[in-house]
This record gives sequence, C-alpha cells and structure tokens, in this order.
Amino acid sequence: MTADEIKQASQELETRSAEDILVWAADHFSGRLTFATSLGIEDCVVTDMAARHKLPLDIFTLDTGLLFPETYALWKQIEKRYDVTIKRVSPAHTVEEQGAHEGPELWGRDPDRCCDLRKMQPLRSTLSDYDAWVTAIRRDQTPERAHAPVVSWDARFGLIKINPLVRWKFDEVKAYVHDHNVPYNPLHDQNYPSIGCVPCTSPVMPGEDPRSGRWRGSEKTECGLHFVKVRT
Ligand code: SF4
Repeated sequence: MTADEIKQASQELETRSAEDILVWAADHFSGRLTFATSLGIEDCVVTDMAARHKLPLDIFTLDTGLLFPETYALWKQIEKRYDVTIKRVSPAHTVEEQGAHEGPELWGRDPDRCCDLRKMQPLRSTLSDYDAWVTAIRRDQTPERAHAPVVSWDARFGLIKINPLVRWKFDEVKAYVHDHNVPYNPLHDQNYPSIGCVPCTSPVMPGEDPRSGRWRGSEKTECGLHFVKVRT
C-alpha cells in the first residue's frame, strides 16, 4: 500500500467496529498478517473476535521467560478454548544466559537494553516474515499511544500496523469480556491493570495511572513495541 492508501484506509476505518477492522485486515493481508498478543485483556478480546470470525491470523507472543505463572496458564487456556496455537517467540538467550553475558537482573540496571534483547530483537525478526501486524493497543493507555491511527506504516519494523481496538475505552473492553465470557488473566482483578514481566510489573493502587505499575520508579513507560511515529 502507498502512503496515501494507508492514510485513506485508516480514515475510512476510523468509524468502523473493531471486528470490521479485523476482517478488513484479514481480507487485505491474507497469509501475510500476524497478531502479536501480550495476553493482556485487550489481546484476549482480539483473539476472541478473530476466532468468532474464523480469521486466518497467525498469533504469537513474546515469551521473555519472565512472565507471570498466571500468564503462562492463560496462554494454555486460550489455546484450548479457541483451538489455536499461539507461537512462542523467544529471545536468543535464556534469562540465565543473559545474566552470564550482561550481569544479573539487567532489567533493574538497564531496562531498555533488557527489553531490546528480550522483546524488540525477537519481535523484529518475527515481523520480518509478514506484511502487516495487528496489535490490541488503545489510545487512552499512554500518551505515546494517544494518536495511534487505525492503520499506519510502522517504520520501526517495516510493515503495516493495524490497531482494531484503538478507539476503545477500558469499560468497553470489560463489557466485551463479560458479554462473551472471554478468558483473561486473573491478575487483572488483583490490581494489575497492565501485566508484563514479573520483575517490571507491580500492582496499582486506586487513583494511580493504570500503567504506573510497569517499570515503577523509572521514566520508562513502553517496551518500545508501540512508539507511534508513523508515516500516514
Ligand atoms: S519488561 Fe523488564 S524483564 Fe521484561 S524484557 Fe523489559 S526490562 Fe526485561
């Protein structure tokens, strides 16, 4: 797609439902489309929609080796519920090997490098096999996501990025999960609105920003997967 075509598609899809956007993506990028699930509650909604519409979507997750036991359990639960395989994308090195190369607990000293090694590099390698990827980000999650288009050229990874839930509020996510009995991580009900790796995720107290439990005490707010600097 040209830049103008991407911009036009995004404008046309801006007022369409999340399911319409997903169907559009599957139609336009059949066999060349993937969905990166982080197994968060929004990702569970997208997985449910894709299954409901029987969309041919390759699904993968970045397994840093540092996810919560509840996240690994949810992974299995989703595969069973929807009869899908969520491909495991792993970093080049185990946590132990990384400790040997970089020193222990890199996340506490240099979380950007840790995210680069354990998320960004494996993600870049995986996305190179596709022409488009779907994510479950929402505009009101972080300031960096506030202007995320429905469809954009993702210059960081060199493919089209499609965000079907981008206009959704958290209440809509909760309503969908309730109405469709979608499985989700039980930690979300234990003051973990955003769930990542164990060392970098903490519970959020009432009144705090929902993302404040990620990399608490540091300026970091994103792994680097979803910086929105796009050609539209
Ligand atoms: S979220 Fe934390 S532990 Fe996970 S890859 Fe990033 S810095 Fe490392």
